[in-house]
Amino acid sequence: MIVANWKMNPATYAAAERLTAAVKKIPAGRTEVVICPPLVWLTDFSHKESEIKFGAQDIFWENPTGPFTGQVSAQMLTEAKVKYVIIGHSERRILVGETDAMVNKKMRAAALARLKPILCVGEDRAVRRQGLAAAKKFVAGQLKKDLVGIGRAYPLIVAYEPIWAIGGGKADTPTTAAEMAWYIKKLRPRARVLYGGSVNSQNARNFLQLKEIDGALVGGASLKPAEFEKIITAANQ
Ligand code: PEP
Repeated sequence: MIVANWKMNPATYAAAERLTAAVKKIPAGRTEVVICPPLVWLTDFSHKESEIKFGAQDIFWENPTGPFTGQVSAQMLTEAKVKYVIIGHSERRILVGETDAMVNKKMRAAALARLKPILCVGEDRAVRRQGLAAAKKFVAGQLKKDLVGIGRAYPLIVAYEPIWAIGGGKADTPTTAAEMAWYIKKLRPRARVLYGGSVNSQNARNFLQLKEIDGALVGGASLKPAEFEKIITAANQ
């Protein structure tokens, strides 16, 4: 599974449409390809027939309607043929102050509405400096709080994204990412675990060839169709 997180990009509708058209031309093979454009364009794309699937970058926890200015519900997204939603991305946790309690409410709202949540977890640099055991403990704590009320049988998708590896061009090592994926699966045996953090066409294969890692959440490289195509090709190998 390869998920493109466009974040707040690109700048115009025309550019987003070009990017979507380019991604649609990439042979997906046996890879599940999901693109998550900004909400303002997402539903326009998701309404059109396509082999690729669409995801939102966030939802609100109340469902389906109500006096919640600026928010969008899980039901509104499923109605618009959106299949996935990224929840608890570190940029939201850090920049918007999203807490584990909020992430948990969003996870429950998504699951109830049959929108597939992609839960992002991962430690910051200070925690990783204390070692992998500390990082595992941190991630286990996030999972415990974020998944209250979500049973162990739920087919979860977790993106392990060490915060220090995001957007900086320096990915985690594949063996460490695989060890964390294995650890997450021990806690949640039905989970698919994606790695995210500076995945590009050069390093994708190193992560995707490891059996513990079921895919990637890709930020920056998903905005460049040629790069993104190589990542999908690596997933299919
Ligand atoms: C992300 O923010 O989810 C991400 C993985 O970004 P990048 O690939 O740019 O590090």
